[in-house]
Amino acid sequence: MDIHEHQAKDVLKKIGMPVPRGGIAFAPEQAMHEARKLGFPVVVKAQVHAGGRGAAGGVKLCKTEAEVSAFALSLLGRNLVTKQTDANGKPVHRLLIEEATDIAQEIYLGLVLDRKSERIMIVASREGGMEIEELAEDQPDALVRMVIDPAMGLLPFQSRELAFKLGFTGKQVGQFATVLRACYRAFRDLDATMVEINPLVVTGTGDLIALDAKMSFDTNALFRRPEVAALRDPGQEDPREDAAAEHGLNYVGLDGDIGCIINGAGLAMATMDMITLSGGQPANFLDIGGGASPERVVAAFRTVLSDPNVSVVLVNIFAGINRCDWVASGVVQAYQELNLSLPVVVRLAGTNVEEGRRIIDESGLPLISAETLAEAAATAVKVRPAMAA
Ligand code: GDP
Ligand code: MN
Repeated sequence: MDIHEHQAKDVLKKIGMPVPRGGIAFAPEQAMHEARKLGFPVVVKAQVHAGGRGAAGGVKLCKTEAEVSAFALSLLGRNLVTKQTDANGKPVHRLLIEEATDIAQEIYLGLVLDRKSERIMIVASREGGMEIEELAEDQPDALVRMVIDPAMGLLPFQSRELAFKLGFTGKQVGQFATVLRACYRAFRDLDATMVEINPLVVTGTGDLIALDAKMSFDTNALFRRPEVAALRDPGQEDPREDAAAEHGLNYVGLDGDIGCIINGAGLAMATMDMITLSGGQPANFLDIGGGASPERVVAAFRTVLSDPNVSVVLVNIFAGINRCDWVASGVVQAYQELNLSLPVVVRLAGTNVEEGRRIIDESGLPLISAETLAEAAATAVKVRPAMAA
């Protein structure tokens, strides 16, 4: 789970991170009010769960109230498209108004979970501000890496070593240790998966300050971090995935036109592959999991069909805990309740499969039964253009 920049800064500030003074605004008037409180110039920043805002016009230095108001008006309620979003972008509902910082140098500092060493890894570079992925590719030597031993924690000599490698001197060495300790403690104590300060800035007076902050958290640990869970902003997430999650379903949106209702992630992958092999493209897949009731199957149909690109639905169930007859009843119920007219291909296997097939075949509805996964995928691809035409 991601959180907003202003939330990450609040979290980090509480444990010692130096950040610019600032306030949050949901409307242009509020943005002007916050700017007046801080004094000009200010920096106005769109709060979305994506980086690359600077290059996309989501960050602006404003010298007057009129500038703040005009910029706020142009951003709020719109979607911001950056290099890190899809073509639709992310909606801007809040702005961070901050005192402007005098930048002498921009440093990159990131903490990530390194799966290879099974440890928290610090990645840092003197070439901050720019895209770290590009830097890692073009100048891998410009990146400094260091792993933290979980039994020892972050040790003072590590902070100093890294500070020297980044070229810090004098008071900056101590300031960097404070910055790094805040990042590490936030990461460890809040079950984060990523903490990123880009840029960490050296100001005109030679002091360090975090100009940007991003944090991601382990969703599986949210149950024990209510204070983190409270920072969730559903407005930044795919509404379809959200709606599916409410029914205990996992939804993944894709670009094609074949809607897929499947049980189990492995079977979903195999089905995606089969569809592609047959020359088609999945529009999405929805994992109904084990023990799907007819009601859940109906909810699954509703979610899959909320994508207007779907021209055929493929139901592929290998029932172990599930029961084919229940799934079949759900398909019939969905077809009637939702007044469907598009083709639905159903492949059932496993528990109560004969009963399930009988329900499908005797429903009197234009449901297409398939014996195997290969046949189901090929059929879905074949019946689709006939409908589209
Ligand atoms: P991102 O593009 O989404 O990562 O957003 P950032 O918060 O990193 O801002 C992008 C860029 O805006 C930074 O790299 C800075 O160069 C610039 N910027 C942000 N705040 C200030 C500021 O207070 N003063 C100045 N001069 N530039 C700033
Ligand atoms: Mn940034």
